[in-house]
Amino acid sequence: MTALPKKKHTRARRGNKRSHKGLSKINGYLCPECNEPRLPHSICSNCGEYRGRRYQSTPEPVSEEATQT
Ligand SMILES: [Zn+2]
Repeated sequence: MTALPKKKHTRARRGNKRSHKGLSKINGYLCPECNEPRLPHSICSNCGEYRGRRYQSTPEPVSEEATQT
């Protein structure tokens, strides 16, 4: 058998241990092209813009046209 704790740790001790486990805030910003939130150093997931260039073709609104006609 391995070593076992002799006493139950208190709630305060458990909380102190978990005090460093919090999630950090995501360092995102708003896309200058489409104003959608996006991550730094990455292509915009909405419009595909990165450093003044389009790397992804924007998906055409086929569904809207299909619903209208
Ligand atoms: Zn964008």
